[in-house]
Amino acid sequence: MAISTDSTAPTPMMAQYLSLKAEARDCLLFYRMGDFFELFFDDAKLAAATLDIALTSRGEHGGAPIPMCGVPVHSAEGYLARLIKAGHRVAIAEQTETPAQAKARGGKALVARAIVRYVTAGTLTEETLLDSRRDNMLVALAQVGGEASGEIGIAAADISTGRFETMTCMAADLPAELARLRPSETVLPDGSTIEVANGHPFDRAAFSSTRAQEALKRLFGVATLDGFGQFGRGELAAMGGLIAYLDHAGKGSLPFLAPPLRKAAGGHVAIDAATRESLEIVTTTAGTRAGSLLHAIDRTVTGAGARLLAQDLSAPLMDLSVIEARLGLVQLFHDDAGLRDSLRGALRALPDIGRALGRVAVGRGSPRDLGQLRDGLGEARLLRERLGRLVDIPPLLAQLLPALDGHGALVDALSRALVPSPPTETASGGYIADGYDPALDELRRMAGDGRRAIAALETKYREQTGISTLKIRHNGVLGYHVEVPARSADGLMAPDSGFTHRQTLAGVVRFNSIDLHEEAGRVAQAGAHALVAEAAHLEGLIEAVLDRKADIARAADALARLDVAAALAERAAEGGWQRPHFVPADGAGQCLDIVGGRHPVVEDALRRDGQPFVANDCRLSHGDRLWLVTGPNMGGKSTFLRQNALIVILAQAGGYVPAASATLTLVDRLFSRVGASDNLAKGRSTFMVEMVETAAILAQATERSFVILDEVGRGTSTYDGLALAWAVVEAVHEVNRCRCLFATHYYELTRLAETLPSLSLHHVRAREWKGDLVLLHELAEGPADRSYGLAVARLAGLPQAVLKRAKDVLARLEAGKAKTGGIAAGLDDLPLFAATAAQEEAAPDPLRAAIEAIDADALSPREALDHIYRLKQLA
Ligand code: ADP
Repeated sequence: MAISTDSTAPTPMMAQYLSLKAEARDCLLFYRMGDFFELFFDDAKLAAATLDIALTSRGEHGGAPIPMCGVPVHSAEGYLARLIKAGHRVAIAEQTETPAQAKARGGKALVARAIVRYVTAGTLTEETLLDSRRDNMLVALAQVGGEASGEIGIAAADISTGRFETMTCMAADLPAELARLRPSETVLPDGSTIEVANGHPFDRAAFSSTRAQEALKRLFGVATLDGFGQFGRGELAAMGGLIAYLDHAGKGSLPFLAPPLRKAAGGHVAIDAATRESLEIVTTTAGTRAGSLLHAIDRTVTGAGARLLAQDLSAPLMDLSVIEARLGLVQLFHDDAGLRDSLRGALRALPDIGRALGRVAVGRGSPRDLGQLRDGLGEARLLRERLGRLVDIPPLLAQLLPALDGHGALVDALSRALVPSPPTETASGGYIADGYDPALDELRRMAGDGRRAIAALETKYREQTGISTLKIRHNGVLGYHVEVPARSADGLMAPDSGFTHRQTLAGVVRFNSIDLHEEAGRVAQAGAHALVAEAAHLEGLIEAVLDRKADIARAADALARLDVAAALAERAAEGGWQRPHFVPADGAGQCLDIVGGRHPVVEDALRRDGQPFVANDCRLSHGDRLWLVTGPNMGGKSTFLRQNALIVILAQAGGYVPAASATLTLVDRLFSRVGASDNLAKGRSTFMVEMVETAAILAQATERSFVILDEVGRGTSTYDGLALAWAVVEAVHEVNRCRCLFATHYYELTRLAETLPSLSLHHVRAREWKGDLVLLHELAEGPADRSYGLAVARLAGLPQAVLKRAKDVLARLEAGKAKTGGIAAGLDDLPLFAATAAQEEAAPDPLRAAIEAIDADALSPREALDHIYRLKQLA
């Protein structure tokens, strides 16, 4: 923010504002003034534009009017939400003393103010600012061992629930991990070279692994971290940065964090950002939830369940025993519809105890949050009883049940202490139940007696004065007072009337009296004492909750897991989905054998239009691991490719799959690429993007991976495209040896079947009927007989004249092709890919030879430098 400084000294208030603003340079400063938060200078302009509120000015600074806007404190949350959503950060400066205290300090002292909190996208806990069905992740990144190591430590937390995890990844995999976590905010050490969009730099010193160890021990009250597992230095540094950042944002009040869960690299299927986007797993390419896989299968009934399901789909597992455990639980609820219904009914009524706990932990817990914890934990106990009575308890359920119990004492305490539906606000009390505290009951009785006495006074005064319209009223300025119509006021004005005049308004006159004053005092005093007593109880209850926060978080997680399992079972029952079977890779090699597979999103969309979805098989095996799929546009190639990738995701996330049967060996990496013209990425040329992404697949796919390639090579000229597609198919077949579906409109590629033994040809069927094209969306063996491009064009409504002309051109092209052998002429004597690749390997490379000749262990630093110069010359 540019603030002109000139000779005219700022007012004391402006000076205070500017010094607070200097503390929060990268934030909009909400400066508390009475009932408003006010913003000044550029902050005001930005906020007024974002919030669409009036921009005014107040006073002058450096000779120019100061732009200003303000929002009322009581509705500040809504405005905050919009500013955060628009990408801003906000610092809240509150008054830290009352005007009376300021006066007592002397003269015209300004009320002291201080920043009490930073509100940023990753540090929210307010119910109104969060999406209940989505995690809100704050991520911290740290690099250890310098850039050379290429390793990055990641710490990620959702402070609204306490979810906390950490892992190490290679720099190249960072985008994939971030795509999985979908952070709302990312912090990294000041001056870091880690490449990440919108990273927020934060104090470098905080990202230290030694400081982190101390901070973690303090946070969890343990003498050693060994109980949580072994953490890498990068992970510790990232966790240290994350905790320090939270400490800074909350100005010393740390939120609840569960003990950090270390995610082992390779613990889940590696899915890079481009694949996530193209498969539309949790959001569509356009960024919406509707249309995604998550949206099509989400039958969860709680916010926590929805958040966990999104996590599961974002990180399908590699550990077969965990997958089977999840499937076992889904099967329990799938096979027993009555059990499923009653569980879902109970869960539906459940408050979000994870988020309620999160608010309580940061000191923003309300009586309503405690009421939610009471209800949620109480319901958990009932569920535990009900589920514990089952005859066959699958292992995962046996593991979850204990977490649902053990909160009895807390639930009892909360039940006894709180009214049935406690309010969010504490200011007017009334949230502690009658009968909980005899002293509080007594105070309330006194206040009640006082109010009754006041009512009795009203009757007495009416009789005494003969004014039947006399009323005793209450307002914020006068407190309790007597009010009579102006025309009847004369009698009360008399000095000996026993009434004291307070106020004359247009139609009424207001008085006080000694009796009324006394009773009012009693009411006020008892009321104030009652408020204090309630607040003390609230504090005690919050303490009791925080004593058990880790257990409460575990209960919340267990309830979410139950919700997810029951939801997957519900979806499976709706669609006739099946439990996938996993087989080991030994001997037979990798397989992916899906019979009658369907695409859940496309099927839903078709059903809405009353159209049937045609199920298709995908039977990849060791000896037939690459399917080349041809056929007309709109024939269903993309749909087929994607449905199989989605089935892999669902299966390894521990869910049933939309297929008649599915037998798989675990997939370690999943790739999906779509040819350029469908994928209008920004900035780089689309063909460049296509090739960069394809290069990543060729570099990373292993024998255990599953790759779908849709029209790769389309983004360039026919010859280039065909040549590249040809070479890519060969490389996938010969080098990566992964399971792969490759859709193409290059009919010429079908000749690869002659040389590549594990490749087979398939096509989506179409038929021309009375001159019209009928797309059957049905997969069949063999190559497509022709491309049907013109028929598709007719389907799309291209004018007759254009179609006719295209037909003529095609006839000539085909005649020419017959003469020359077509665009694939000359490919007949192409040497095998393996042979050329081997040649490439064998060719003597002087640079490589020189590098290999160096004995690194035997070098002095000086000699090493000499070598580098020599190598550079060779390069
Ligand atoms: P292609 O990739 O061959 O151009 P798509 O997979 O994009 O074709 O499919 C085009 C349209 O065809 C889809 O939007 C869908 O409406 C319909 N479709 C695709 N597959 C099927 C199927 N198996 N059953 C029914 N309709 C399908």
